Amino acid sequence: MAMTDETLYTRLFSNQPDADKVFLETAEGRALTYAEIQAGAGRVANALVRLGVKPGDRVAVQVEKSPEALLLYLGTIRAGAVYLPLNTGYTLAELAYFLGDAEPTVVVCDPEVRDEIARLPEAKAVASVETLDAAGQGSLADRMEKESEAFQTVPRAGDDLAAILYTSGTTGRSKGAMLTQSNLTSNAETLVESWHFTADDVLIHALPFFHTHGLFVATNTLLMAGGSLFFLPKFDAGTVIDLMPRATALMGVPTYYTRLLAQEFFTHDVTEGMRLFISGSAPLLAETHQAFSARTGHAILERYGMTEINMTTSNPYEGERRPGTVGFPLPGTELRVVDLETGNPVATDEVGVIEVRGPHVFKGYWNMPEKTATEFRADGFFITGDLGKIDGDGYVHIVGRDKDLIISGGFNVYPKEVESEIDALEGVAESAVFGVPHPDFGEGVTAVVVRNTGAHVSEEQVLNALKDRLARYKQPKRAFFVDELPRNTMGKIQKNILRETYDRLYQPAGQD
Ligand code: AMP
Repeated sequence: MAMTDETLYTRLFSNQPDADKVFLETAEGRALTYAEIQAGAGRVANALVRLGVKPGDRVAVQVEKSPEALLLYLGTIRAGAVYLPLNTGYTLAELAYFLGDAEPTVVVCDPEVRDEIARLPEAKAVASVETLDAAGQGSLADRMEKESEAFQTVPRAGDDLAAILYTSGTTGRSKGAMLTQSNLTSNAETLVESWHFTADDVLIHALPFFHTHGLFVATNTLLMAGGSLFFLPKFDAGTVIDLMPRATALMGVPTYYTRLLAQEFFTHDVTEGMRLFISGSAPLLAETHQAFSARTGHAILERYGMTEINMTTSNPYEGERRPGTVGFPLPGTELRVVDLETGNPVATDEVGVIEVRGPHVFKGYWNMPEKTATEFRADGFFITGDLGKIDGDGYVHIVGRDKDLIISGGFNVYPKEVESEIDALEGVAESAVFGVPHPDFGEGVTAVVVRNTGAHVSEEQVLNALKDRLARYKQPKRAFFVDELPRNTMGKIQKNILRETYDRLYQPAGQD
């Protein structure tokens, strides 16, 4: 009996249309066909092998987004090596940790930091530090030119690693999530099916290329569908709107959608040829969902996932895409919501921790067997740390992270509940609610609020308005106004920064 080839690289190209079909186009009009993408991946694979990369070796990459960065990803997995992308914002000190932990054979970075990286003690065992800049130039590109495009794809088993992605972890050390060939293959297959991607699709790819969303959800899915991408270095509302009449789909973080809505020339007509708008990586406000529908007639499809578990729930392609929810578990996913303390499943509409099992769930954290063991249940479910609930219709709601849970006077306060009440107030654009140390309550509920342009809502108005809407222990003790909430590149609100900023708020004066 013939065994199915589980090699991710091979599976990504299994539905390849005509080899002359364009897979990737840049905003400047540079185009690469499917044949050229595979040829480029072949050249990268040959270059890596010449540098000493063997199957299972790590290739660490901190480069700006470019078509060559995509070839580097594909060439790495084609050589059977493990792709290890790093956020372009990481400092040298952070890189030292990742290199020391992952022990890559090859590092590819921006030419500007090459020498500093090569001098790091943690890079001693690295065989070569290569360069690639935003224009796709550098020592790696030079090597590619000299290499043949022919390469025998290294076969891999389903359980072999394809990538390690370090999580953004706001507390403690960043952890390297080990993703296998079959984790990524199975998820890409599920998404092609569930979101109806075909060779006719053209996706606007404006996401970063070092994070699971842009790297796997967007790229793997479109490759597997035989579709194509507009590959943009970053999100720019004007460029995205200009390209929309030639595209069919957009994947974005919620801020993309608020930024699109802020443009007057983002109209119903512009989106007429679009088939699908997808949002994830951070919560999409129900209000944004509704404003988007009103403007364009499109219901944004919100989904939920995480580096460790890939895409896990999604609103339906056909059927109601319910604002403020992340939809249903995707096919192949088992999802349950359990009590924080007892680990027993909770009732419908009750909040607990989301746990997940399925072929898309990662293999564990690199070099951290103990940490891995504490985050899985004995029956194989991964404890996500996300708090959520399942409503009577089966839709999953995300309520926050367990580490963001506020315990005030012994009571649990879910920030999302308080934020929803504040966001519904006249004059409020959005808010973030978090806990900081409080001498009487343990933690004091605190809010930071962004006003709508020109609105004059005051702290007193916010606090008063909540008095008859929320139980006393859930009411913020203070509310502050800011122009913008602190967010990371994926649009996630950085509550750790807010907690640090307001850390001493409720401490009696003079007690440092
Ligand atoms: P990352 O590993 O960087 O993709 O971050 C994963 C985390 O992002 C999840 O654990 C959630 O806390 C959050 N997240 C992702 N998608 C959503 C969503 N649609 N709504 C709310 N939170 C989300």
